[in-house]
Amino acid sequence: MIDFSIPDELIAKRDRIRAFVTDTIVPYERDPRLTQHGPTDELRQEMIGKARAAGLLTIQAPTEYGGWGLSHLEQAVLFEAAGWSTLGPVAMNCAAPDEGNMFILSKVCNPEQADQFLRPVIEGHQRSVFAMTEPGGAGSDPGQLATAATFDGETFTINGLKWLITGARGAKTWIIMANLETNDHLQGGPTLFLADGDSPRIVLERIMNTMDRNYVEGHGVVRFDNLQLPKEALLGEAGQAFRYAQQRLAPARLTHCMRWLGAAERAQSIAIEHAKTRTAFGKTLGEHEGVSFMLADNEIALHQSRLSILHACWLMDQGEKARHESSMAKAFVSEELFKVADRCVQILGGIGISDETVVEMIFRDMRAFRLYDGPTEVHKYAIGRKVLR
Ligand SMILES: Cc1cc2nc3c(=O)[nH]c(=O)nc-3n(C[C@H](O)[C@H](O)[C@H](O)COP(=O)(O)OP(=O)(O)OC[C@H]3O[C@@H](n4cnc5c(N)ncnc54)[C@H](O)[C@@H]3O)c2cc1C
Repeated sequence: MIDFSIPDELIAKRDRIRAFVTDTIVPYERDPRLTQHGPTDELRQEMIGKARAAGLLTIQAPTEYGGWGLSHLEQAVLFEAAGWSTLGPVAMNCAAPDEGNMFILSKVCNPEQADQFLRPVIEGHQRSVFAMTEPGGAGSDPGQLATAATFDGETFTINGLKWLITGARGAKTWIIMANLETNDHLQGGPTLFLADGDSPRIVLERIMNTMDRNYVEGHGVVRFDNLQLPKEALLGEAGQAFRYAQQRLAPARLTHCMRWLGAAERAQSIAIEHAKTRTAFGKTLGEHEGVSFMLADNEIALHQSRLSILHACWLMDQGEKARHESSMAKAFVSEELFKVADRCVQILGGIGISDETVVEMIFRDMRAFRLYDGPTEVHKYAIGRKVLR
């Protein structure tokens, strides 16, 4: 039987996170180090220090790494609280892409790789990237992967161009997806590699100017220029990149939903306050049915989104992959929450598009959510194929 009741202990943790984000992190939303290219590394480090002191850093990590050993359902409740500010997950080290990267690394790394590439990310000392998308190759269709890797028995050599690589500037742990040529030693195919971001052969060509600014150091265009890696750089088995990426994607797309749900709730709370206090035509905005209906539509969307997330989480907690359900949740939640943010802008009137409130930032940041971890159309394509089978 599905049981969505929240135990008291979890409520206490949720409230602790909510208080930390509200009291300590929200003030950073006005910090000049929150730039067009996202929070700077310096800002991130400062906020991470605060979360560490509050005992709220990387709570999602496995217990052997000092995390809270959370179920997916518990994570849903706590990440929603963290998402109250778009900076909350950054501070608590549960933001993308690190959160998804830590998840996959904790499943696939060998112990030596974990010490070098995973542990420092969990501890908040370094950041990670997942480099898949390419201007001329992999995107919605990773089968178009064009970045190429060769292996001579000792060394891998990687060449290719990637873009939209979140957090590329300054990240140390790199997960790179490349197409390995079959050779005398290994069966080829799409393969994941681990690399140290300090390599001069990882060339950051530029940071892209994008409409969002909630991801640390923005999104980079990166060239692998004869990047040479030792044989120990292989992450998991050769030729298995898509399998591992899928392992990362189902939970990762849900954690995006959880965090954005928190942000949408924040926008709704600001819109409600405005509707209660601002007047027009002799009464408060909220007393106009047109406005109360928008707030009601938001409430319905928030509730349905939460249920959709919790159901997919519950399935995963039962040991199911829940690919179909997480796909439906991602498509639904990303579309609905964006509409929530849009209606909040509308209720705020002219100030809705200004930075007088955080709603404008939430609206812009949230737009990208409909694209990453599978654009809505790609999820619908997969859902459609399943129902037609
Ligand atoms: C903010 C942000 C951060 C990102 N961070 C990273 C990162 O860290 N690492 C990384 O590797 N990538 C990252 N990406 C890239 C992201 O994974 C891709 O944008 C996504 O996979 C879509 O690929 P694409 O942009 O090449 O779009 P395309 O593949 O060119 O698709 C464009 C559009 O075509 C339509 N479409 C595609 N396929 C179908 C279909 N089957 N049916 C119907 N319509 C379809 C959709 O409307 C889609 O939006 C990020 C993207 C964003 C926006």
